[in-house]
Amino acid sequence: MRYVYADNAATTPVSKKVVDAMLPYMTENFGNPSSLYSIGQKANQGVKKARQQVAAALGANENEIFFTSGGSEADNWAIRGVAALGAKKGKKHIITSKIEHHAVLHTCAALEKQGFSVTYLDVYENGIVRPEDVRNAITDETCLVTIMYANNEIGTIQPIAEIGAICKEKGVLFHTDAVQAVGHVKIDVKAENIDMLSLSGHKFHAVKGVGALYCRKGIRFPNLIEGGAQESGRRAGTENVPGIVGLGVAITDMMENMEENEKKVSALRDRLFEGASKISHSRINGDRVKRLPGNFSMCFEGVEGESLLLMLDMNGISASSGSACTSGSLDPSHVLLAIGLKHEVAHGSLRLSLGEDWTQEDVDWILEVLPGIVDRLRDMSPLWEHIMEEEKAHA
Ligand SMILES: *Cc1c(COP(=O)(O)O)cnc(C)c1O
Repeated sequence: MRYVYADNAATTPVSKKVVDAMLPYMTENFGNPSSLYSIGQKANQGVKKARQQVAAALGANENEIFFTSGGSEADNWAIRGVAALGAKKGKKHIITSKIEHHAVLHTCAALEKQGFSVTYLDVYENGIVRPEDVRNAITDETCLVTIMYANNEIGTIQPIAEIGAICKEKGVLFHTDAVQAVGHVKIDVKAENIDMLSLSGHKFHAVKGVGALYCRKGIRFPNLIEGGAQESGRRAGTENVPGIVGLGVAITDMMENMEENEKKVSALRDRLFEGASKISHSRINGDRVKRLPGNFSMCFEGVEGESLLLMLDMNGISASSGSACTSGSLDPSHVLLAIGLKHEVAHGSLRLSLGEDWTQEDVDWILEVLPGIVDRLRDMSPLWEHIMEEEKAHA
């Protein structure tokens, strides 16, 4: 049986290039980057090069890149840091969206408990924030706007440059969780007026547990970890040298192949949409055009998402209902509810996130098994029976 890994938005396999680049930093160049002898300095050079590579990928300077343990840490650091700066000036209002990752939403919720007020912007049925809504939400008390670059469940890409321009004009700091976007779409932090940006290595073929925060020079936000002088003293602790080296190689590789990957992956994704849309009572979630090349998200009425995933798994397909963080819980995704889906429809969601190594045969395999699985689940579903009865009554 074919195996198709269709959950690249949850995590990606580490590429051979990355493994090869990391290995010497666990063996002959294992030294502490703060040490003066040569194997320490080699490790230091590895970290320095990775910092340059990450900076180059974002259009940033190397002294604006701070390595972290991943996307969640970068989000927490940015939001809590700016909130602390704001509180000092009596500015305790934050603007975000209803479809952020929990690393952002739960951080905002924690700040609400500390007396901050948070505006959660609507994303309408297409899953996209309207820049005018950001403008209208900004008050004299606003210290931070944090809007994700691309959504992890429905793949929608937000109008980041427009929002950045508004924040610049209004003098409000702008952070974006770009974990899903980095390596997949072109980002230029200066042109887009992004003050802070979070990224995570394991979403683009580096290892889990390494990421970075870009922070524009001149923003004097608080240190995350006190200790040694690592990361300019902002985040102390001996660096994850192999992970950081791998992150640099992975991001460079993604940048070099971005156009080619985008063309190839989005064509395969469109073929999936075309095939799966033939299933009755189905809908595509989120804007059809302004979305990540590798994101497929649909709902199938009268289908229970968890059962769909288990049956896909039995057919060698690893997929997700939405985000890895909500699966396992029975609550429908906050993202699907935010685009206006009813609970029962949101329960029948399927996210397939494609990899750059996919072929037409992978897509064809999914399209071969998916309609049959949906049919079988509907045959067993009281909800589907109800939908059919309603239709007959109104026919
Ligand atoms: C995966 C993800 C995160 C969390 O990143 P980790 O490195 O796993 O902590 C944050 N935001 C988005 C949009 C993500 O997809």
